[in-house]
Amino acid sequence: MRVVVVGGGIVGALTAYYLTERGAKVTLLEKRYFTYGSTGRSTGSFTAQQHHPVLVRAALRSIERVKELKKRFIEQRIPFAYRFMDDESPHVAIAMSDGDAERLEKEALIWSSGGAEVLRADPEKVTEYVPFLDPEAVRAAFITPKDYKAMPQPITWASIAAARLNGAETRTYEEVTKIEREDDAIAVRTSSGRKYVADAVVLAAGAATPKLASGVGDKFNDFVKPHYAGGLVTEPFRYVMKATVRVMRFSYRFTQTVRREFVATIDDMGEENQSLDVSDSLKFIEKASTITVKLMPVMRAVNILRVWGAYVDVTADRLPIIGWSLNAEDAVYYAFGFNDYGLSTSPYLAELIADEVSKGVRHPDLESFRPARALKQ
Ligand SMILES: Cc1cc2nc3c(=O)[nH]c(=O)nc-3n(C[C@H](O)[C@H](O)[C@H](O)COP(=O)(O)OP(=O)(O)OC[C@H]3O[C@@H](n4cnc5c(N)ncnc54)[C@H](O)[C@@H]3O)c2cc1C
Repeated sequence: MRVVVVGGGIVGALTAYYLTERGAKVTLLEKRYFTYGSTGRSTGSFTAQQHHPVLVRAALRSIERVKELKKRFIEQRIPFAYRFMDDESPHVAIAMSDGDAERLEKEALIWSSGGAEVLRADPEKVTEYVPFLDPEAVRAAFITPKDYKAMPQPITWASIAAARLNGAETRTYEEVTKIEREDDAIAVRTSSGRKYVADAVVLAAGAATPKLASGVGDKFNDFVKPHYAGGLVTEPFRYVMKATVRVMRFSYRFTQTVRREFVATIDDMGEENQSLDVSDSLKFIEKASTITVKLMPVMRAVNILRVWGAYVDVTADRLPIIGWSLNAEDAVYYAFGFNDYGLSTSPYLAELIADEVSKGVRHPDLESFRPARALKQ
């Protein structure tokens, strides 16, 4: 089976890899460089703190997959595998207001119903995980102690290198401009004038996917919107914080990477970003710095070294869109709409996607995510 995968983020890379493992002849196309999209601009946290039980389960399995993949890629001597820069990282979810505390309480029930270990923590206990925290700023806190962190780029690069070892063709600076039916096959045209003919196309182009979908008549209209996100990195310090902090409502995360710098991100600034703009924003710096200093006053003295902008593909029900097109069934497959949890869930979900595309099976874990709900408007 010939499959073209569009998008060199973590979803496209892992799907391409798992497809080659299942014997497919894969071509992976990326419009810029691998990890150019939200993957390369994310925090790197793998957490069971998800709002749907299937996503919780996917996150728990994804953490296992990341560890297995690292081992497997090291055995295959894929250089990037040595650079996963991973560590255990208990995730500490914090509510800073009474209203958010109630919401957090409800979310924590979903985490445990999805199978995650969840601990309730009083503000003093939280300081064991987050040494600089001001307990006064915390109204409620829950911890998922078995969570993880890893740099998303090496995972993506290693998966692509492994796919190549399995025979995949991979191209960067190859922007897909058109997808159309061609007799029994599907043709993918790119900005460089090339044409790729395949039996199926997997669209894993993140926030750019709806535009490509309209070529085969699937209109996602307002169901998916690109939202602005931002990240900042500080000067490096001694590695003192394994944990990752999440603040409810602001989609804010804060952690120390194993490269020792602190990273703060707001995965969704709540603003549309139709042009998929990746320039930095003063509004983001203000918001991220305010939350950081309120939670950890000592951070006031820390220098920010770099700031970046990004986009996430936010869906109306905050679930991903996974499955065959309605208009080009068995030829165009969607794998996008991963909101702010694509790293946490894709190492597992990409494997199910590869099974559906290559073997024609339907996996029950994907049933809540089908495109029909997003196209029926
Ligand atoms: C600031 C920030 C922090 C985040 N933190 C976390 C976190 O800690 N944990 C977590 O689980 N998730 C996090 N996320 C979300 C996570 O990054 C995404 O859900 C995930 O990376 C989505 O991966 P993807 O492969 O679907 O999309 P992307 O990484 O966006 O990849 C899509 C790719 O498609 C390419 N493309 C687009 N159009 C075309 C075309 N026409 N032709 C060819 N290629 C094309 C793009 O260039 C891009 O490389 C964060 C996101 C942001 C922005």
